Amino acid sequence: MKQQGMTKGAVNIIGAGPTGALLAILLQRLGMTVTLYESRPDPRGNAGESGRSINLALADRGIHALKLAGVHDAIADTLVPMRGRMIHPLDGTQSLHLYGQRPSEVIYSVSRHVLNQALLEVAARNGVCLEFEHRLEETDFAAGSAQVRDLRRNTLLGIPMAPLLATDGAGSLTRRRMSASGLIDVTEADLEHGYKELSIPSRAGGYAMARDALHIWPRGNFMLIALPNADGSFTATLFLAKRGAASFEALDSPTAIRQFLSTNFPDAFALMPDCVREFQAHPTGFLGTVYADTWSVRGMAALVGDAAHAIVPFHGQGMNCCFEDCVEFAACVGRNATWEAVFDDFFMTRKPNTDAIADMALENYLEMRERVADPKFQLQQTLAMELERRHPTRFIPRYSMVMFHHEIPYQLARQRGLLQTRLLSDLTANAATLAQVDYARADRAISSMPPLAADTAPA
Ligand SMILES: Cc1cc2nc3c(=O)[nH]c(=O)nc-3n(C[C@H](O)[C@H](O)[C@H](O)COP(=O)(O)OP(=O)(O)OC[C@H]3O[C@@H](n4cnc5c(N)ncnc54)[C@H](O)[C@@H]3O)c2cc1C
Repeated sequence: MKQQGMTKGAVNIIGAGPTGALLAILLQRLGMTVTLYESRPDPRGNAGESGRSINLALADRGIHALKLAGVHDAIADTLVPMRGRMIHPLDGTQSLHLYGQRPSEVIYSVSRHVLNQALLEVAARNGVCLEFEHRLEETDFAAGSAQVRDLRRNTLLGIPMAPLLATDGAGSLTRRRMSASGLIDVTEADLEHGYKELSIPSRAGGYAMARDALHIWPRGNFMLIALPNADGSFTATLFLAKRGAASFEALDSPTAIRQFLSTNFPDAFALMPDCVREFQAHPTGFLGTVYADTWSVRGMAALVGDAAHAIVPFHGQGMNCCFEDCVEFAACVGRNATWEAVFDDFFMTRKPNTDAIADMALENYLEMRERVADPKFQLQQTLAMELERRHPTRFIPRYSMVMFHHEIPYQLARQRGLLQTRLLSDLTANAATLAQVDYARADRAISSMPPLAADTAPA
């Protein structure tokens, strides 16, 4: 018998970041009555926070979700396309490594603030009730209720978990409460590296570097990256160990900061006149991966987005993955009759994929800070593109599967990526150029690989 999905009822969502706002829109559009509680003030009409991930890479999975929710049009004009990685070795030269081989295979730099404002505008237009300066403070899973503080009046408000969807981010209070009550088992795997945001201002009204690339200064155990903003500036992020010889801990004076940045990133340092002050003023951010053995408590409360499965940012997929969560969650609502069934379905469908992107994001850190500068790795990347040209429906570079093919689940991208990496490594073991590759062997291996979901998509 076909199950009837739920289309009515009240839902409380905690946290109006990218996940909470998009989820609110999708559920409200399904016919539910959504209230979205957010501890911060309404970001619409203010300039946004500095020093915390000002821009983000938006890719196909995120764009697909934003289009489904009717948000994409509102931000399309502000997106800055990036068609590849611009690698900056120490000697000051630059080389562009394209992300894909079709004009559409680009990723976009988007302002976190602009995106958040657009999501909230669309949420309000769809009838979502927005409660800013309302902070979740207490959860009682036995009674099925929670307490939210109205920060303007300093009063507590009881809300039912009927249900409560927690999109309160990587440091989720809800997740910590579920874990402290022994209801879920959580591992928070901190990375030994942290991050700091710096800025490269616009120059004479234009961009100080190529605007159509994500710039990377790979330096082995640390790296600097920069994404373009629509106003001509770049937001740079330094990823560095928290402790040790080259570390945030060691950079404890203006002299040490200046010396470190000017020695390791001389070209970028010349473009960052305010970097020492920014370095001291901006917080050092923490990075890590969250793994939980379940994301819900009966039919009462569920974690969605970073609250359930925060990942490190090195694949530029955290938010994209969260947006995909929202689409998947809405689909689960549409095909199940109870919240408990929705939560179970969501976890079973999504967990293998969020585990896969968590692994790939960690692997990409090594790739970005170290391997991108290695000639063998560069040959393998070029070969991957060539194999895609020869076998467009059977060989798609892993980066492309993750960034440009929302129809390929992360889990499949990871599995196929492992096979392909092995093949690329075999094919280049004795080759220094593309011309030396044994293509007959490549053809045989690729035709024996199981088909990709993208086999049905136009090449
Ligand atoms: C340095 C860095 C770079 C990144 N770059 C990218 C990128 O390029 N591309 C990409 O796709 N992803 C990127 N990410 C990941 C992305 O930022 C996250 O995946 C995304 O923000 C998660 O959205 P969320 O809504 O789940 O959580 P959050 O963005 O953390 O939002 C949670 C919201 O909940 C609110 N909240 C928290 N606690 C409470 C409470 N008790 N009561 C009420 N409200 C509460 C918070 O104020 C916040 O508004 C990056 C992350 C970092 C750290």
